[in-house]
Amino acid sequence: MPINEVNVIRSCGVCGTEIETVTIKKDNMMLTTEELVWCPNCQADRPEVRDVAGRLDAIKQEQRSYPKAVAAKPFSDQPPGSSRG
Ligand SMILES: [Zn+2]
Repeated sequence: MPINEVNVIRSCGVCGTEIETVTIKKDNMMLTTEELVWCPNCQADRPEVRDVAGRLDAIKQEQRSYPKAVAAKPFSDQPPGSSRG
């Protein structure tokens, strides 16, 4: 079953305090917004920052599966062919 909804964390763009987590449809997902949100820590309206919840876990998993570095083998020298003429 495809996941159509994502959890988005709304946090204060100034102090980083998490304000709330909202579930929104992926289609409507906007991580950039100019809305202001009331920050209880700053006691002021602040520009909100949105981040997808769980994204850090995904990044961790990605890093775990980094491809191994493959050592390049030098080409073996072949003797040049001699031409008779
Ligand atoms: Zn704040």
